[in-house]
Amino acid sequence: MPKTVKCLIIGSGPAGYTAAIYASRANMEPVLYTGKEPGGQLMITTDVENFPGYPKGIMGPEMMEDFRNQAARFGTEIHTGVMIEKVDFSGPVHKAWTEGGEEIHAHSVVIATGASAKWLGLDSEKRLMNKGVSACAVCDGFFFRGQEVSVVGGGDTAAEEALYLSKLCPKVHLFVRRDELRASKIMQERIEKAENVEVHWNTEIEEILGDEGVTGVRLINNKTKENSELSLGAVFIAIGHKPNTDIFKEWLPTDETGYLIVDQPGTSKTKIPGVFVSGDAADKVYRQAITAAGTGCMAALDAERYLAEEGII
Ligand SMILES: Cc1cc2nc3c(=O)[nH]c(=O)nc-3n(C[C@H](O)[C@H](O)[C@H](O)COP(=O)(O)OP(=O)(O)OC[C@H]3O[C@@H](n4cnc5c(N)ncnc54)[C@H](O)[C@@H]3O)c2cc1C
Repeated sequence: MPKTVKCLIIGSGPAGYTAAIYASRANMEPVLYTGKEPGGQLMITTDVENFPGYPKGIMGPEMMEDFRNQAARFGTEIHTGVMIEKVDFSGPVHKAWTEGGEEIHAHSVVIATGASAKWLGLDSEKRLMNKGVSACAVCDGFFFRGQEVSVVGGGDTAAEEALYLSKLCPKVHLFVRRDELRASKIMQERIEKAENVEVHWNTEIEEILGDEGVTGVRLINNKTKENSELSLGAVFIAIGHKPNTDIFKEWLPTDETGYLIVDQPGTSKTKIPGVFVSGDAADKVYRQAITAAGTGCMAALDAERYLAEEGII
């Protein structure tokens, strides 16, 4: 017989571990599957300076180790490196299967599977990751204040990142693959008005330059095939995120990009009783560790109330 748990948490970023801290302290005996990226997105970053409680900043992996230890301290059962491959939310008891085929039954489920930033796929991008290459201006823009920087992308996120950086940096280059922005009209107008944002149309990065840190980019104009080089201190990739929600799509509504949609705004509730969402998997707007942790807390509290109403705890 598969084991039945009170609270299954899927994911181990700030949302999943925060849900686990709350759930374990409320006697919900949570069982958490970390997936293939134990610790989530912050494991690939260096300094985190905007999470309250760390006045001197902290390295992303160290912070996530703190999260994990805090969740484990109150008894969360943590399955490291294991993915949940399939779920079935059709019955009153929810079912999930690990990649190894283990079946889990759960009275409540907290989804905290996060999202993954899309990258250009260049070797130089990988090499200079966290050394001037970033996918988050709000997170890392501060490190490059006073420097000339760049943003890659043509949608709303790219426009927002460019505008955010334009308040910290003397000059922002926006590299757009096409000859127009996909961003909304209002964002396009703001970009046009920003005096220190220069849009480079039909422009792609061929290589990010630098050894210890980004020093510039080699560009190609995809119409004229002309190459050029620019000196700058950082490259912010803003070509989109992919929420890790494929396994839930059969059961829960998503928007066109795949972000899960909460059933009652201001809560973590989905249309399926006992299934709650948190973190970046349901957040295309803020995408921060603190907001992920906040919604992880909400999901655990919503799950606790649900379990109490059902007479399970
Ligand atoms: C390079 C970088 C730097 C950043 N810097 C900052 C910063 O300085 N400050 C800040 O506030 N934010 C920062 N962010 C954003 C922040 O990392 C995210 O907002 C936050 O991690 C989202 O947390 P989450 O818990 O929703 O999901 P994630 O951190 O994305 O974690 C998702 C978790 O779900 C697991 N998972 C996925 N699918 C499955 C599955 N099927 N089964 C089991 N587990 C699964 C993964 O293994 C992972 O553990 C940064 C992001 C990046 C990429």
